[in-house]
Amino acid sequence: MHLYMAKPEFDLFTALDTHASELERLSWQGTFGNYIDIIKTRPSLARTSHRTLFDIVTASGTEPLPDGTKKYPFFETGENAIFGLEKPLANLVGILEAGAHGLEPRKRILLLMGPPGGGKSTIVSALKRGLERFSMTDEGATYAITTCRMNEDPLHLIPRELRPQFEENLSVHIEGDLCPDCNSKYGDPANLRDVPVRRIFFSEKDRIGIGTFMPSDPKSQDMSELVGSVDFSQLAEHGSASDPRAYRFDGELNVANRGIMEFQEILKSDERFLYILLGLAQEQVIKTGRFANISADEVVISHTNQGEYDKFVTEPKFAALRDRTLVIPVPYNLRVTAETRIYEKLIKQGDFTSHINPNTLRVAATFAVLSRLEPSKKAVDNKKKLKIYDGEDVDGVSLKDAKDLRDEFPNEGMSGASISPRYVIDSLSTALIKGNKNCLTPIDALRALRDGLDAHPHTRDLPQDKKEAMKNLVDDARGEYDDMAKREVQTAFITAFSDSTQTMFDIYVTNIVAFCNNNKVTDPITGEEKRADEKLMRPIEEAIGIAETGKKDFREEIIRRIGTLATMGHKFSYASHPRLKEALEKKLFADLKDIVKITTTVVNPDPQQQQRLDNVTDRLIKEKGYCPTCANEMLRYVGSNLLSR
Ligand SMILES: [Zn+2]
Ligand SMILES: [Zn+2]
Repeated sequence: MHLYMAKPEFDLFTALDTHASELERLSWQGTFGNYIDIIKTRPSLARTSHRTLFDIVTASGTEPLPDGTKKYPFFETGENAIFGLEKPLANLVGILEAGAHGLEPRKRILLLMGPPGGGKSTIVSALKRGLERFSMTDEGATYAITTCRMNEDPLHLIPRELRPQFEENLSVHIEGDLCPDCNSKYGDPANLRDVPVRRIFFSEKDRIGIGTFMPSDPKSQDMSELVGSVDFSQLAEHGSASDPRAYRFDGELNVANRGIMEFQEILKSDERFLYILLGLAQEQVIKTGRFANISADEVVISHTNQGEYDKFVTEPKFAALRDRTLVIPVPYNLRVTAETRIYEKLIKQGDFTSHINPNTLRVAATFAVLSRLEPSKKAVDNKKKLKIYDGEDVDGVSLKDAKDLRDEFPNEGMSGASISPRYVIDSLSTALIKGNKNCLTPIDALRALRDGLDAHPHTRDLPQDKKEAMKNLVDDARGEYDDMAKREVQTAFITAFSDSTQTMFDIYVTNIVAFCNNNKVTDPITGEEKRADEKLMRPIEEAIGIAETGKKDFREEIIRRIGTLATMGHKFSYASHPRLKEALEKKLFADLKDIVKITTTVVNPDPQQQQRLDNVTDRLIKEKGYCPTCANEMLRYVGSNLLSR
């Protein structure tokens, strides 16, 4: 059944008008005098780039994690949502926080290091978009000298001699000096009050407070992209290339002032560039040679992969840079649930129009995460480890064991020779296009992930034995899917037969009450004494592996539970006790096995069988997000492949 959902009315031109008036409200033009009035009431607006980024990330709050670290919801929203990288992100935010307090990390270049497609650039994009959004809020208001290409902090106008008093008076901290251009324009302390100041909005597109640089071919690397260049149209008028009026302060490092500078592939750049970056990190100045050092305050972030990083660690030319760099390892995510969310996000951004079976992405994620796990020396295989990492309770594994497992391989997930999210999404897209299907099922996905190994650029050059190992992982993922599908069909049948479950539960409880009550129960009407029937209780308990010797404890525990719930005024239902629920369902499913087999494999089921099958299909579609194609396919798959074993 399809429901027609009326979409809320959207009028483009009304929205545009609202947007324009919002921009007008936010745009503010004034003078240095006005700005000082603003700062007097809101000193927190005078902040460094590290503080700004830290405020952005923490403005959306924090959530504590079981291991004592924190999670930042900021990184989980929007097009740049990041999943499963809590540790690297906590690491990054810790650095920003220390920087915000003016500590040493403020003087470092941040280097995100990890395998391709693991989320390094997404992290940087998230920060850039965050800056853009933040500067549009009242909390994120940022002001600059209107005429300055470097978004100069207006407080730089205050002469050094007067700063201590001002700082103490307002509890703000001023760093840095006017750029050469502002210095030549506004060097006279008597006329400062009227220097034009405006509110700025960070924008990567307009190159305001956000800079991006990627080194090109080393022979043609041009410094001006980074630090600006002589403006030849002004040179004749002002006579000298050292006159700031004849210079364009529009290099990426200039425009990134007050915000963030993304320096891509830092380790591929020329030594002259590294020298400039060092000055920027160490002293917060841009050294061009042509002018005195130009103050700049920006968070410099770069990224690299393991191969290049190994060179970085050994090559002498990087020695000085190493001292000034904080490396943040960004491994592939190792949690299936988080991996699934990554795919959901990527798929939403692509234009997949087909239905995607609710298990497809999870199955693909299982394969990808398995490819990233190192084999533990402890008695835990990778299929189990996968569940432990995903926070599932695994019998016999304590929290401490789980932590030990995580600590066993500090570099787990860092290998570029494992499966990346990109590989998975590419393979799934190929499957959809080639198969021309209206639904992507887990089986289609597994086939595509297997076929892609020889074709995809990410994997095709891997050694043969590595590829074979990956193919085995596809089989492992299929095993996981088989379990999932069996469980899913089982639950669907059980829900369709929920009245039977309730009946079985009532009978079971009556009997264990009798058992715990000296093995007798009195019928309330006839007054007849009945004995508890082991033949009714044992098959249910056996379904979840409760031995003869353990039955008494199990039964007593349930009775206690019923008592506890009763004193709190709650009724005990079969869903109140997870193990009992499992036992009942397993028992019922065993009884239903024949029905499942018949209704899913028989070519012409009788009307009653057909009715049952329709009920189950309906439930899968309405409650579990299946489409008719994949619901029927799974029922047939489970019926013919899994139940016969
Ligand atoms: Zn300036
Ligand atoms: Zn489907």
